[in-house]
Amino acid sequence: MIEVRDLHKSFGDLEVLRGIDFRVEAREVVCVIGPSGSGKSTLLRCINLLEQPTSGRVFVGDVEVTDDDVDIDAVRRRIGMVFQAFNLFPHLTVLRNLTIAQRRVLKRSRSEADRIARENLERVGLSEKENSYPAQLSGGQQQRVAIARALSMGPDLMLFDEPTSALDPELVGDVLAVMRTLADDGMTMLVVTHEMSFAREVADRVVFMDGGVIVEEGDPAQVIGKPRNERTRTFLRRVL
Ligand code: ADP
Ligand code: MG
Repeated sequence: MIEVRDLHKSFGDLEVLRGIDFRVEAREVVCVIGPSGSGKSTLLRCINLLEQPTSGRVFVGDVEVTDDDVDIDAVRRRIGMVFQAFNLFPHLTVLRNLTIAQRRVLKRSRSEADRIARENLERVGLSEKENSYPAQLSGGQQQRVAIARALSMGPDLMLFDEPTSALDPELVGDVLAVMRTLADDGMTMLVVTHEMSFAREVADRVVFMDGGVIVEEGDPAQVIGKPRNERTRTFLRRVL
């Protein structure tokens, strides 16, 4: 579903990604861990071209994202993205937050968009909040709305960038529970997270990044439980 080949990204003189190769298979859940500044967000952003790679190739499904002639809007429609900040429209109800892009981008009818929005609100356990405004919800509820909004577009894969990092600790569990059901339903997911128990229990594979390279990757029990690389061990000692 995702293939990245020898990806490099620099900002001016700062080389942030220094040759990344990796794949995510359909229905696979891959967690990316690593210290702040190691290039995790940049990697995610290169996959849907929110950042333009300096060199290397990125494929999503059978489409080369880094091809000059790519229809990037068509690629982005297949990719759901959930960020640390929820980015909901504050002046729209929860239901309208879930329907606006369905109507404008996918040209769905109001009734179809409403139906799909309600299905996805139910999936994240927020059916009763459809008429609320974002400010009336907790951070955890807002993030679940953001997930439901992404799902309403019918993506083939979901990218998550530290979706629980901005939340109070007691709200993290509900968001992770929603992500876990998505994984169980077979969604392809690439998740940047500091939640090691989530990575250990849900991920098929864990990738440890440091200094713009993949230092170690493999089975979660191995990478988190018995890391081979000294840098992985040092990082895990700090976060566990
Ligand atoms: P992570 O998500 O692992 O914390 P990032 O990918 O956000 O790391 O950032 C990696 C490095 O790239 C950091 O040093 C950051 O300051 C730098 N960086 C990220 N985005 C930009 C940008 N738009 N312009 C300049 N530097 C950036
Ligand atoms: Mg980041």
